[in-house]
Amino acid sequence: MGTGVSTKCRKCQNQETYLFGVGMIYWDLSNIISFFTPGVQKKVLELEEIYRFEEVDYSHDLFECIHCDTAHSRLSLEIKYSGNLVYKPQYKCYECKRKLKPTNRDVGSFKCRKCFSYDLEETNYINWD
Ligand SMILES: [Zn+2]
Ligand SMILES: [Zn+2]
Repeated sequence: MGTGVSTKCRKCQNQETYLFGVGMIYWDLSNIISFFTPGVQKKVLELEEIYRFEEVDYSHDLFECIHCDTAHSRLSLEIKYSGNLVYKPQYKCYECKRKLKPTNRDVGSFKCRKCFSYDLEETNYINWD
């Protein structure tokens, strides 16, 4: 079961939800392949045709954009194949298009993605399947 947290901006009222972990249908990559962007899906299928995957890891995680100091929830993916090769898609910030990096910070400590002020309040904790 996965968890999540919702935030609301005290200034502009914008709401966002961030998901963490994996749900029930996540036991096989083919069940959730459609959750990835078309580019990632294509790459996975290409690799799958040539190689046997040794290890596949995926989970909704929190990423941060260092440039605009915003939080983003993305489905991370790591595929180990052919000995020591690793495929790991790079995620980009929707706002400024720079690369995101994984983070352990609280979502409430980031800027609002709409008005860019530090006014986020964590409103809701959720469990999902
Ligand atoms: Zn705001
Ligand atoms: Zn950004």
